[in-house]
Amino acid sequence: MTDKDHPHNRKVYIETYGCQMNEYDSEIVREVLRRNNYTLTDSQEEAGVILLNTCAIRENAHQKVHARVRQLGPLRKRNEKLIVGILGCMAQNLKKELLEGDSGVDLIAGPDSYKALPVMIDRVHVTGEKEYKLTLSEYETYADVFPTNRHGINAWIAVMRGCDNYCTFCVVPMTRGRERSRDPFNVIEEVKQLSAQGFKQVTLLGQNVNSYRFKGFDFAKLITAVSRIDGIERIRFTSPHPKDFPESLLEVVATNPKACKHIHLPLQAGSSRVLDAMNRTYTREEFVALAQRMREMIPGLVLTTDVIVGFPTETEVEFEETLEVMHEVKFDAAFMFKYSERKGTLAQRNLGDTVPDEVKTDRMVQLVEQQRRISYERNQLHVGETFEVLVEGEAKHKGQLMGRNDGNKIVVFSDNGARPGDFIKVKVDEVTPNTLIGTALTTTEAIRKFAV
Ligand code: SF4
Repeated sequence: MTDKDHPHNRKVYIETYGCQMNEYDSEIVREVLRRNNYTLTDSQEEAGVILLNTCAIRENAHQKVHARVRQLGPLRKRNEKLIVGILGCMAQNLKKELLEGDSGVDLIAGPDSYKALPVMIDRVHVTGEKEYKLTLSEYETYADVFPTNRHGINAWIAVMRGCDNYCTFCVVPMTRGRERSRDPFNVIEEVKQLSAQGFKQVTLLGQNVNSYRFKGFDFAKLITAVSRIDGIERIRFTSPHPKDFPESLLEVVATNPKACKHIHLPLQAGSSRVLDAMNRTYTREEFVALAQRMREMIPGLVLTTDVIVGFPTETEVEFEETLEVMHEVKFDAAFMFKYSERKGTLAQRNLGDTVPDEVKTDRMVQLVEQQRRISYERNQLHVGETFEVLVEGEAKHKGQLMGRNDGNKIVVFSDNGARPGDFIKVKVDEVTPNTLIGTALTTTEAIRKFAV
């Protein structure tokens, strides 16, 4: 078929919500559509197709998608041929409601159905009927779709998809299906292309990234293989599960100079009873022992975490255990959330939402205050140290630049003419809980000479 056979407006506007995996998936969708003669636009007014790539993890995701679709109503009235599609995790959850009556939605495609989008859009255009494709695949890894239009200094690359862990608070196993890993040769091919495009840093992505396994080729081997690619200087990964950190993986992070010395180790709760209710498969003691082992094996390691407060049935004493573990492990930073129910999860079905909101808020305040102190103490240890910083761009304040050190900490320094993608040395003079502030030791001339 040629473009002439498709007289409909082939400009696509994509909006992405949620996690990094969704951002990556939007790149896959762009690539699939680009290969089918669609062009991308930043203007929803001039688009013929508007796709919302949704996320079910965040609070109120459901209402937000409905509100956004309603907002597009006037645009649909002005442009009757406009096709509105819902992609991503909410697509899995919302099929029934969105396909009913005049919902304002023309197509729904789940996370494993993006290759079908061009055909689905054509069908809607020709028949005027609604289309949906939500089947979850045990095999789809989009290995043959390399996104080609990435920006910034870091390239995200999905190496596995789905999750088999069934944490009781999480919708991912329901919305994204079973775990499956990409062929390592295919990952290497994509990273080589990224390196040729000038990327120096890649972040390996997966819902449960360290459970990566392809016919006996595990995650430690994958990092080693990626590190052999010329031009790639830094390798990061997210999000791992504590259950998948064999010694061989810690060894690679400890010894491979390209593997960044930063591990995100989601704790979720400090009480073994709550961890069991969450189906996290580790106890408080096992988690603390793992964190200690990591710090022993990897000098200078930056450890960060995720924590949920007010999980159903969590008592005051059990919350205090979370405070204790956080105090003991001394994470450099933490993402902290009040528990909120997700439809269809085991916790929602079996436990309800038993901790009152004001109790959750109170626990959250205590946790955030404690973590702020710990993050500040951890950062103070860096005063006087010199780090290699990968420059990302301008900082919030005029005349300053920002980048990240190997441990993923934000480093701010006076603008010395460095450009995004430059590596420069910065000596830390002072700190806040979230930022290292320092002086660039490398001159711009030295950076350029180094680059040549
Ligand atoms: S490991 Fe648990 S929290 Fe993470 S995606 Fe899988 S089920 Fe969700």
